[in-house]
Amino acid sequence: MNFLDRKKRAAAAAKAAGVNALLVTHLPDVRYLCGFTGSNAALVLAGGRAVLFTDGRYTAQAKAEARGTRVVIAKKPALTAACEWLEAAKVRRCGFDAEHTTVAALDGMRKAVSGKLRRGMFQPTKPLIAAMREVKDADEIARIRKAAALGCRLFDGMLEFLEPGMTEMAVAAELEHRARLAGAEAMSFETIVASGMRSSMPHGHATMTKLPKQGFVTLDFGVVLAGYMSDMTRTVHLGKARAGEREVYDAVLEAQEAAVARVAPGVVTAEIDEAARSILRRAKLARYFSHSTGHGVGLEIHEGPRLAAKQTQKLEEGMVITIEPGVYMPGRFGVRIEDMVLVTSKGGEVLTPSVKAWIEL
Ligand code: ZN
Ligand code: ZN
Repeated sequence: MNFLDRKKRAAAAAKAAGVNALLVTHLPDVRYLCGFTGSNAALVLAGGRAVLFTDGRYTAQAKAEARGTRVVIAKKPALTAACEWLEAAKVRRCGFDAEHTTVAALDGMRKAVSGKLRRGMFQPTKPLIAAMREVKDADEIARIRKAAALGCRLFDGMLEFLEPGMTEMAVAAELEHRARLAGAEAMSFETIVASGMRSSMPHGHATMTKLPKQGFVTLDFGVVLAGYMSDMTRTVHLGKARAGEREVYDAVLEAQEAAVARVAPGVVTAEIDEAARSILRRAKLARYFSHSTGHGVGLEIHEGPRLAAKQTQKLEEGMVITIEPGVYMPGRFGVRIEDMVLVTSKGGEVLTPSVKAWIEL
């Protein structure tokens, strides 16, 4: 990870946004810029300098992880110490991420500096670091590839395990247990296992409901490896399909594959969304597709870019996105298929190549 380059680019982005320093407190952004993974941090970029403020629990860890960045172990709240440092360094306009700073935190920042600076010193900026993080570098892509590949191995293994009568919770527990044994630091988010009628809930977390003898099971899960997340969904069928189920599955699969095929640098994200949605519209299923088509993935499970109607952002080489259309028919069933896709110079490379064709167990 080239932290020096990232810090330089962040400082340039701050300058372009009209501030001469940046106070970074969103932890994934701190990690991205200097490598520190602790739970309490304020990173200051000012005048070519970078200083990380944290507390005594992280004395050894901060030194080891944030090599190349000066570390201050603060005796007071890290944010207060960072603001006092900024004032002493004669910074007069410091940007902060408006989306990740609470009203209380901003109040604390203002109180940490002397009266005359309280009004104009801290300037809300767009999420500058989040924007940088959308395009992944080679090190990040290598980590994401590994996480995605582990996700696929886990899914393939679960096909042997799934059986009618076991609870959704047992499925989630087995999947997560295997993930940890395989080296996952954590799951990317609470594992979704939604079976039978519950598959019509896009975010149906695992419950004590038993898997049916006949019906869908949706598995949506991800693992974290070296800080980077995976995210994939497959929907399989237990027993023989009932009337209409296969048609819906095939329509979702066609929509998903059409959207994947549209991925390329320069393509507007709304066009990817439309590629999936138009196929479901033709199948008269679009009204059951109640969410957007995808999102970026990296240090966080939901990052930019958003793939949704009316989005004007263009895809860039190095972005990692999900493509995940779904159809959810209340009281009946639901189907979602999700892949992670890397935007390459040639188009899109699917990072989660587990089988997507109809599976009947
Ligand atoms: Zn997912
Ligand atoms: Zn997703």
